[in-house]
Amino acid sequence: MGARLVRGGRPGHAGPVLTPSPWWFGPPALHPPAEGTPFDLVLLDRDGTLNVRVPDDYVTRPEDLELLPGAAQAVGRLTRAGCRTVLVTNQRGIARGLMDRDALVAVHARLESLLRVEGGRLDAVVVCPHGHGECGCRKPLDGLFREALRRASWADPARCVMVGDMPSDLEPAGRLGMRTERVAVDRPVGDAVTRLLGPSGH
Ligand SMILES: [Mg+2]
Ligand SMILES: [Zn+2]
Repeated sequence: MGARLVRGGRPGHAGPVLTPSPWWFGPPALHPPAEGTPFDLVLLDRDGTLNVRVPDDYVTRPEDLELLPGAAQAVGRLTRAGCRTVLVTNQRGIARGLMDRDALVAVHARLESLLRVEGGRLDAVVVCPHGHGECGCRKPLDGLFREALRRASWADPARCVMVGDMPSDLEPAGRLGMRTERVAVDRPVGDAVTRLLGPSGH
């Protein structure tokens, strides 16, 4: 391509600047859900929302990924409701050289297999692998959300929801007009899904 990657893109710099792109794992275009599905997209944070956060560290190996209580059941409910689910996650450990893309893929294969036990499915995964100030996609920037909307051209932000445990998850989604649901230790993801879908009969 010949264009040089300029980190941070200095203002006034003349010449091509390539903003690093998010990593998208999934079909190039997402299919819309069936008529009557309550949301267009349900975007899910990963660490601290679906799986246990590793304090001051990253999940670099599949065996280190541990789901939070109720997470698989919650994603299973979303899948059974017909929702399109997209995992939306910052993984700066890649920029820091603590893991590579293959390791991330292996961690996500384990995540998806644990969700599948309860019938849960992720339709796509979108990742910011970059460091601070390198890109337009590291949350709280909105690049991951814009990428998900770009891949789901039929989606109306007002019919999308972001579920996450940090203000940096919820603020960019809110700025794009999405509904937000906060998860915390005393507000697990299953409760967020109950607020979205109503109480489960089973
Ligand atoms: Mg989180
Ligand atoms: Zn990024």
